[in-house]
Amino acid sequence: MTSPLCVDVVVIGGGIAGLSCAAEISTNASVALIEAESQWGYHSTGRSAAVTIPSSGGMVINRLINDSLSFLSTPPQALEIDSFLAPRGQLLVATAEQESQMQDYLDRVQGVTECTVDEAMKQVTILRRESIRRAAIETAVQDIDVDLLLQKRSKICRENGAQFFRSSRIKNLERVGDIWKIRTQGANIQTPVIVNATGAWADEIARIAGLRPIGLTPYRRSAALIQIPENYNLSQWPVFSSVLVDWYAKPVSGKLMVSPAEEIKVEPHDAFVDDLVLAEGIDRYQQMVNINVTRVEHSWAGLRTFAPDRVPVVGYDPRVSGFFWLAGQGGYGIETSPALSIIAATLLTGKDLSPEYKELSTLMKPDRFIN
Ligand SMILES: Cc1cc2nc3c(=O)[nH]c(=O)nc-3n(C[C@H](O)[C@H](O)[C@H](O)COP(=O)(O)OP(=O)(O)OC[C@H]3O[C@@H](n4cnc5c(N)ncnc54)[C@H](O)[C@@H]3O)c2cc1C
Repeated sequence: MTSPLCVDVVVIGGGIAGLSCAAEISTNASVALIEAESQWGYHSTGRSAAVTIPSSGGMVINRLINDSLSFLSTPPQALEIDSFLAPRGQLLVATAEQESQMQDYLDRVQGVTECTVDEAMKQVTILRRESIRRAAIETAVQDIDVDLLLQKRSKICRENGAQFFRSSRIKNLERVGDIWKIRTQGANIQTPVIVNATGAWADEIARIAGLRPIGLTPYRRSAALIQIPENYNLSQWPVFSSVLVDWYAKPVSGKLMVSPAEEIKVEPHDAFVDDLVLAEGIDRYQQMVNINVTRVEHSWAGLRTFAPDRVPVVGYDPRVSGFFWLAGQGGYGIETSPALSIIAATLLTGKDLSPEYKELSTLMKPDRFIN
């Protein structure tokens, strides 16, 4: 039998959370990164809308998004790129029946400015004027190049000597003394510390480790890519959305991604579209524009996984030593990944967090779900 690989930390999950955490922690520790699929980012990370919306989320998410912007807009020089972000903007539209929701949104959300319907029509030339009563713009919304982010995170991991195990689904985790013993296809590893960055499967990994789950719930959200007639130049269009966020649309490589923005509770799985839900969402979009959807070119679904209080779960589990949670990022896991991975890596190495992050990390502790 081959002798086990011994490392300081095993990160389970090769989505944006696992790769970002592994990149940060591998500067100070030996790391193995284990992913069930054959490619990084196959699940939620590869299925997102790839934007950052600085006004979104509750207090914790909002703080994490805004603290992540400097990494995303001006990455460290070693990454040899100018930015992971590109300008996009967001336009919100309201029908006559949705006027009060628009007023509430404008009163509540910072960074959003009302504009005239004419201005909205200039931004997105397919909008149906007679359907729109009010509109608002949020210029700070930006596209994130998620593929590039994943590539750069994996490059840093490799340069730091992290070892990769893909197509390796964890089915057993055994704690013997101070050590976790891990066996998967192709991997026989021992480590004192596991990072659970498995997205929708995070509670399942806890179960495998012999721990009671903490109540993380995956919710499905789907999207479709539709064609827009060639005479429209949509490259400069913002993301546009109903103020109720019961549909949104975003230009992607000359086509339009339209999402019903649904949130349907499911079990962790390789998510797929519910055709009826998608059709209803496309219909809500269709009522606000003046060109017909003739063909859906491609559709997909992904899982957004939330803790019961919708705050991420980050920190050591108090019930067993060496089990660290990095989960529950919901619909914000890409735009929060730089700040979250720094907090996670600092906690993992036992270093002191800055006073502000200390407070934030207290709110994210798994302890809040464990009696
Ligand atoms: C339609 C949609 C739109 C979104 N839009 C945005 C957006 O615009 N901006 C934003 O910031 N966020 C967005 N999100 C949310 C974002 O995609 C997620 O928060 C983020 O990708 C979560 O990353 P993760 O690494 O935790 O999970 P994942 O990417 O799902 O990675 C978890 C990994 O763990 C692996 N794994 C699971 N079990 C095991 C096991 N037993 N052994 C080994 N590996 C295992 C899985 O294979 C998977 O690759 C969106 C999500 C959806 C679905």
